[in-house]
Amino acid sequence: MRNRPGRHFLQIPGPTNVPGRVLEAIGRPTIDHRGPEFAALGRECLDAMRRMLGTRGRVVIFPSSGTGAWEAALVNTLSPGDRVLVYETGHFARLWAEVARRLGLEVETVEGDWRSGVDAGAIEKALSRDAGGARSIRAVAVLHNETSTGAASDVPAVRQALDASGHPALLLVDTISSLASMPYEHDGWGVDVTVAGSQKGLMLPPGLGFNAVSEKAWRAGAAAKLARSYWDWRAMEDPNAAGYFPFTPATNLLFGLKEAVAMLEEEGMERVFDRHRRFAAATRRAVQAWGLDFNCRRPEHRSASLTAVRMPDGWSADALRALILERFDVSLGNGLGKLDDRVFRIGHLGDLNDVTLLGTLAAVEMGLGLAGAPFQRGGVDAAMDHLAAAPAAMVDSS
Ligand SMILES: *Cc1c(COP(=O)(O)O)cnc(C)c1O
Repeated sequence: MRNRPGRHFLQIPGPTNVPGRVLEAIGRPTIDHRGPEFAALGRECLDAMRRMLGTRGRVVIFPSSGTGAWEAALVNTLSPGDRVLVYETGHFARLWAEVARRLGLEVETVEGDWRSGVDAGAIEKALSRDAGGARSIRAVAVLHNETSTGAASDVPAVRQALDASGHPALLLVDTISSLASMPYEHDGWGVDVTVAGSQKGLMLPPGLGFNAVSEKAWRAGAAAKLARSYWDWRAMEDPNAAGYFPFTPATNLLFGLKEAVAMLEEEGMERVFDRHRRFAAATRRAVQAWGLDFNCRRPEHRSASLTAVRMPDGWSADALRALILERFDVSLGNGLGKLDDRVFRIGHLGDLNDVTLLGTLAAVEMGLGLAGAPFQRGGVDAAMDHLAAAPAAMVDSS
């Protein structure tokens, strides 16, 4: 590979750009994970993740990708043959359902159109059909933010659907591509198990998976019969209480986690969320000016952390992405599953500012022109107008 001057733009919807402060923290010499220095780090990281996830209860940290945390959510709460209702918002929901099937669970899907968030009414209907004594659905699994389609979902509305149907199923929620970019409240929203990962809004490299666990989910775990060893929450309990882990944790990523959460909290979480809303709004202005379609049809479902854009019919999204990478050194997200080659995804989550976003949008606009795709210029102008008119709340200098 020849050297490319300047900084590569990693504008996929995760992994995201890792700030220098976090890289420096990760670069510190590894310490003894059973030594005295480690305990404070372990406790600080668990507390930091409680704040990020919005819980006073149990949080579990695995050295894993998000997929591992998906598996942990299932094996710690369910038994072979249990039914799980999965709302198929898109590719990632389908993958989680596939994990459940491979583990020996019975999956019932609510089909989505891959262009919107969860319809809580459809979940309520499915739960109402599962009435009577049997009540065989043990868990409902939804994604807070479907990264393949750019659609976010109203988790409290899903909670209400469970409550309205009086159904005792557990509520499992994936917040891998929304945590620390969009508001999320594990306790406040009545979620039983939350699944998260390090490499998106938390601005870390891949390698940490998280669960937040409600009391109800913890109790369900006592009766759950799926085989588990590495993913067993209970093995974490005693060591975690003292700041340690039952096996070797990803020590250097924990250095990074502590630093990343410190950075987010210095900015202030409300500001972090506002910043992402602003980036999403500016990106939408650009897409509209280009005259391209959003993959997510309903404006109120459009994600604050990424925007999935549909290519005009007959035009390859992958060819456009390849051209933009080659010419401008900017990586955009590809279409996944059913959306293969149909959409490109602009990640606007994690460590970025106004001009990072504008650089990304400029690469897209130049790429569309070079590809000869049917579109109108002026997207970057529209985004600039939005960003200039709605200034970011600056970090306090005090
Ligand atoms: C990225 C992502 C995943 C996959 O996580 P891995 O770390 O690749 O295992 C799962 N769900 C959502 C919503 C994601 O965005």
